[in-house]
Amino acid sequence: MGGDARLVWEAIPDSDRSSLPLDAVLAPVLDAAEGDGSAILIVPDARAIAAAVARLEKDGLARWTTRSGGEVAVIHTEDGPTARYENYLAGLTGSARIVVGTRPTAFQPVPRPALISMWADGNSAYHDPHAPYPHARVVAAIRAETEGTRLLLGGWAPSLEAAALVEHGWAAWGVADRASVREAVPAVDVLTGPRREEEGPGGWHWMPGTAWRVVRDGLDRGPVFVLVPRAGYVTALACARCGGWSVCLNCDGPLGREGEGCPPTCRDCGKENLDWHCPDCHGRRLAEVRQGIEKVAGELKRMAPSTRIHVSSADSGILDDGEVADGIVVATPGALPAVSGGYAAGVIVGADSGLGRVGTEVDSARLWFGAAALVRSRKAGGRVIVVGDLEPAARRALETWTPGDLARGAARERANLGLPPFRRVIQFEGPPSLLDEARGKEIGGTPLIRRPDVDEVPSDGALVLLAGRGVAQEVVVALRGLVKEASATGVKARLRVDGPFEIEG
Ligand SMILES: [Zn+2]
Ligand SMILES: [Zn+2]
Repeated sequence: MGGDARLVWEAIPDSDRSSLPLDAVLAPVLDAAEGDGSAILIVPDARAIAAAVARLEKDGLARWTTRSGGEVAVIHTEDGPTARYENYLAGLTGSARIVVGTRPTAFQPVPRPALISMWADGNSAYHDPHAPYPHARVVAAIRAETEGTRLLLGGWAPSLEAAALVEHGWAAWGVADRASVREAVPAVDVLTGPRREEEGPGGWHWMPGTAWRVVRDGLDRGPVFVLVPRAGYVTALACARCGGWSVCLNCDGPLGREGEGCPPTCRDCGKENLDWHCPDCHGRRLAEVRQGIEKVAGELKRMAPSTRIHVSSADSGILDDGEVADGIVVATPGALPAVSGGYAAGVIVGADSGLGRVGTEVDSARLWFGAAALVRSRKAGGRVIVVGDLEPAARRALETWTPGDLARGAARERANLGLPPFRRVIQFEGPPSLLDEARGKEIGGTPLIRRPDVDEVPSDGALVLLAGRGVAQEVVVALRGLVKEASATGVKARLRVDGPFEIEG
């Protein structure tokens, strides 16, 4: 990683295949704390805190308690207020020289800040849902500037915003050489539409035959994951009436359909089920139906009756790292646990759901890289199948494991289009008359909305502006003034800067 003061770095999986590459993340933290200063490590969730603290404890460092002291203060929203405050004080005074925690840790004051390291800065957990909505990465970057602290932004796949910092020349780029990357990562294969077409009816099953063979083969060697999209459901051919899975009347195999209007055909025995009816409700119509993660797990149980199926999602409960050692883990992206030594294989289904909006391909690919990083190396037989029609750039990045190229390419594209993060998103909510007043607010003698460096983005019920970096601060100040005036008269108004931004693609 070198000694760069501000570095965006692309991690590669280590032999442990833990949820974050602990050696690489912790080495600079330990270095900084061994000197005169304090080190802050910001991670997205409880899983990452547990992994980091466990490793630090194994290295002989103790977690801070007021009673016995220690080197590592932990700031975790799920701890009680007393424990949090005690740990906050330990970091503030420098009694504990390492501070590890989630989003609020970005604000942790320390006496001699030497390093702020942030893992997976693209994780959605870093968006503060409370006004004034500072993003932990923004806070960390400001501190790096004002406090002269070293800043490391690491992840399996860089966020678009981190890539933009590199494109701006604000941060350096750190990536391992190609040989080390190839050595470390699993084989990744993206099953796009044409590939599924070639497979025949089974190809259009939510779990195409090719992918299922990888699951079966992997199970002989270790645990396998099946990742369902963020929303927690897959779309599958099922009974339009009761949502029951479509099953071959001849052999109980899964049914597929080559297209709308084509007869359902069995993937196992090849029989066309012309007079298909639902064995449960006797419905006669098949449709593409949303199947939630529990139903997906049930179907996998039917497809592989002797295999243990574990479910991990926000709704059903999130499995801890190392909790599973065999069988199939069905999970949503944020809930996928690491397994000791890595998964033998993984299948990501519905990888293209939620795409079609500008900028989302980097975010989605980041999730898929995060899951694939938990799979054994190609040399150790690790394979990942990604099912979905991904953009060519995202597909190429996954298959060649070049997440940085994808993020930097997207960042450059956005710079050319004048989209965030190169311009700032300013969102102003209030009654229509107030929105009009905002549009007419003069900056440098020109109404806001007429300025060449400000564009309004069509939006329902809000004024959404893209403002060039030069003018953005003035726009924010002007609109903040309006919010104050409005609330003084009891009118509700709200200002949000650099919130999530999506436009229809
Ligand atoms: Zn039915
Ligand atoms: Zn059949």
